[in-house]
Amino acid sequence: DQVLVKAQNVKVHFPIHKGILRRQVGSVKAVDGLNFEIRKGETLGLVGESGCGKSTAGRAMLRLYELTEGQLDFEGVDIASLDPKALREIRPRMQMIFQDPQACLNPRMTVGSIIAEPLDEHTNLSTEEKREKVKSLLDAVGMNRDFVNRYPHEFSGGQRQRIGIARALALDPDFIVCDEPIAALDVSIQAQVVNLLQDIQERMGLTYLFISHDLSMVRHIADRVAVMYLGKIVELADKRDLYKTPKHPYTQALLSAVPVPNPEVEAKREHIVLQGDVPSPANPPKGCNFCTRCPVAIDRCRVEEPELRELNKGQFVACHLAE
Ligand code: SF4
Ligand code: MG
Repeated sequence: DQVLVKAQNVKVHFPIHKGILRRQVGSVKAVDGLNFEIRKGETLGLVGESGCGKSTAGRAMLRLYELTEGQLDFEGVDIASLDPKALREIRPRMQMIFQDPQACLNPRMTVGSIIAEPLDEHTNLSTEEKREKVKSLLDAVGMNRDFVNRYPHEFSGGQRQRIGIARALALDPDFIVCDEPIAALDVSIQAQVVNLLQDIQERMGLTYLFISHDLSMVRHIADRVAVMYLGKIVELADKRDLYKTPKHPYTQALLSAVPVPNPEVEAKREHIVLQGDVPSPANPPKGCNFCTRCPVAIDRCRVEEPELRELNKGQFVACHLAE
């Protein structure tokens, strides 16, 4: 399998400033050393609770943030060190679909001009060619071609998300970061949008990083899954392995909270309740990031940080006890 995206020790720290001199007094370690690969044509799920850094990680993968540290290869080119001109050339190939399409659809622009905007910026297509392209994009996302002259507010949340997807597809990207693309939608239309994403992935050979807090959804759409906690990946595996035999105590806790459909099985399941809150990424614990909440922590966990190691074939775990 060919690797499309490769993150090595990717860090995004945001400085904290104080006082009128704006002196830096610390930093928020939103993303703190990610290592993973995304293969061509696959969907890597990125899961974790809100605030764990997954959205920041997603944006970092497109270099929408400068990396504090690390290397980020896109087809073997380190985009973390590209100058603005070279970055601009590679940009069209990497796109993003947002949780709230509302926020990224300019209410004063027609659907047609919203979808055509990336074409205006990055191509020399004629007006006629652009019009045709926009129509084919509307086809691709299952919307009526006549919608080009209408405005975002005339549409439902699901349809607005389709407009956002059409826009993301305008430049024929290879890689799309989907950041909670259905979290803001009615349950009744979530499945439609997920099916659309899977359908266009297959037709256009897309590679996805699919960010979500919803483990059931990720199980449905992802090939492999990475679990994030406090800026780090604690477990990464093929989805079958991750859901069947989770090795990290945090993954186990997250999965134990997902109800299973069979009520008899559900009644017998053990639910792991985590104590306390997620610590601040401005002041993460020493040793293992999870040690303040881990039900099986040992002394070593409070002094030594566990590395993400390959335990079984393709199953990576960052835990001293997972051996
Ligand atoms: Fe828990 Fe220790 Fe494993 Fe961290 S390293 S998850 S604290 S057992
Ligand atoms: Mg988020």
